[in-house]
Amino acid sequence: MVDGLTQLANRRRLQSDFGGLLQRLREDQPLALWMLDIDHFKSINDNWGHSAGDEVIKHLATLCRALVRPQDLVVRYGGEEFCVLMPDTSLADALHMAEQVRAATAKSVCVPDAGTLLAGAPSLEIRLTVSIGVAELRVDGCEELEDLVATADRRLYAAKKSGRNQVVNHD
Ligand code: GH3
Ligand code: MG
Ligand code: MG
Repeated sequence: MVDGLTQLANRRRLQSDFGGLLQRLREDQPLALWMLDIDHFKSINDNWGHSAGDEVIKHLATLCRALVRPQDLVVRYGGEEFCVLMPDTSLADALHMAEQVRAATAKSVCVPDAGTLLAGAPSLEIRLTVSIGVAELRVDGCEELEDLVATADRRLYAAKKSGRNQVVNHD
């Protein structure tokens, strides 16, 4: 249920928590989710090295966990992709919180242990940005976790296509 690198929840935990939330969900309660992906992460790995890339993933995990609420579930969904499940949260509120994480990430610097850096790395500090897609279960006509993830993922892709370092919550 826990990702080894970041100690965040993994996909199995997401599936399990989503199932529980769906069972208890009242007609009037919204349920939102974001998909977040680090921008140009491959070039971070290429320039600073894979170990420094791992430190960037941990840096972002810490940032996300610090900025969301206790009831939100932050998940390491894949390599440099995170997802946040937000109970009782409207699309507008989820957008607002995603925007805060996006802005905080763009202002932050990750300073990996110098020993982890690739020889010839461009700097000791790594700056990063993220793109985020946001979806809400009922507003977006989703029934299953797969639908919700696919909708958020489609918007994440739109955020990438329109220049990265942004949040998209509509098609
Ligand atoms: P985009 O802005 O379009 O998202 O570009 P990108 O370079 O971030 O996207 P791409 O999917 O091409 O690269 C993701 C990279 O993430 C490729 C893979 O090597 C790297 N990666 C995946 N998992 C890990 C990990 O656990 N640690 C590190 N250091 N790198 C990882
Ligand atoms: Mg990716
Ligand atoms: Mg990426």
